[in-house]
Order: sequence, then C-alpha cells, then structure tokens
Amino acid sequence: MLRLTILYDNEACTGFTGSWGFSVLVETDRETILFDTGWDGTLLLKHMKKAGIDPSRISKLVLSHQHWDHIGGLPEILNANPGIAVYVPASFSENLKKEIKKRSTFIEVKEAIEISRDIWSTGELGDKIKEQSLVLITKNGSYVITGCAHPGIDEIINAASFHGKIKGILGGLHDSDVFEGFKEMNMIAAGHCTTHKEKIKGLFPSKFMEIRAGLRLELTEC
Ligand SMILES: [Zn+2]
Ligand SMILES: [Zn+2]
Repeated sequence: MLRLTILYDNEACTGFTGSWGFSVLVETDRETILFDTGWDGTLLLKHMKKAGIDPSRISKLVLSHQHWDHIGGLPEILNANPGIAVYVPASFSENLKKEIKKRSTFIEVKEAIEISRDIWSTGELGDKIKEQSLVLITKNGSYVITGCAHPGIDEIINAASFHGKIKGILGGLHDSDVFEGFKEMNMIAAGHCTTHKEKIKGLFPSKFMEIRAGLRLELTEC
C-alpha cells in the first residue's frame, strides 16, 4: 500500500477547510509518515480526525523547510505524539532546532537520507531557502513530494532521479516555469503555492491534478 492523504492546502474538499500551507500523510504497510504540518495545528488535527487518522499512529515527521505555512502545526503534532522522529533540514534556526530536540527524536538532514524503506529525502537543496523533498520509490518509478519547491523543480527532479524514473510529483510547485521535467510523468499534482497552475494544466491536461485538503490518492505499485 502507498496511500497519500492531503491534510492541508489552501483548497479543500467538502467538509475540510482551505487554509494557506501544506501537509500530506504518507501511509505504507510499514509506516505512517507526515510531511509538513500546514500553519494551523488545530485545523491539521481536525482534518486528521475527519480523515480517520489517529495522530499517535504517525511515527515520523518530515519538515520540508522553515516557512510558517509548513511548520506551524509542529507543536500540536509533538503534543499528540511525544518523542516522534522529526527530520529537520540543517538550515533551520539553531533556536528552533533546540526546541524541537527537547520534545522529539531529532534527525538533522543535510544529504539524501533513507527515512523508511523505499522512502527517501532528497537532502537539503537550494541556496537561499533550503528545502528537502520526499521521494517515494515504487517498482516502476518514483513519486516526488515537495513543500514549496523553492530550490526549483529542475533541481528537485534532478536530485530525486537518483532513485530512477520519476512517475509523478505532488505538492507546492512555486513559481518554476521550466516544465521539461514534467513531460515523462503520469501525474502532476499541484498545491498551495503553485504560481503557474493554469499554464501547467494547459500543457499537460491529462496528467494535471489540483490537490486539496481531504483528497486521498492510492499510488499503484505495478
Ligand atoms: Zn515556502
Ligand atoms: Zn508554502
């Protein structure tokens, strides 16, 4: 099983609330991993309840980058799940790292690292705003999950391609306007901070998908 549930986005399905930011839950047969937290932890927990997810089931939290719309729900996740493993980019402020360390199993990320079997971080990418993305490896290709994609889609796809062909991308795609890397993909799922949604949709109508809080996707492995 490889299942994704969007828990936070500025767009939302009926019964969920749109709010600026991003969070997605990744479930496999072995583990439940949360990627980012949106900005409002109360809303994040409300969405988890609505989606039937017990936060204490989450074993690992991966934070893409130190922007408010991705880490705001961190205290609520630490409260609900003391000692959880948190994968934090090394570029986070020292004071914030110190606080997270007090309440979690803290893992600092610089280089690419395996988070769970067949689930990797790209490691910190970019210069100005450093960010890590997730790579989910399946038998016939990988899926990339981005926070805001500040380092640029090209750099992210390039790093993620280390694990083989990329089948799809999901998350905030920011303002990248180089779409070459999307050509070979089957799924382009754009979220909260994607500037060129309409343009990408126009170029790849059959692959494009707008994500929203409450959306659940089963990724096939064959
Ligand atoms: Zn950002
Ligand atoms: Zn963002």
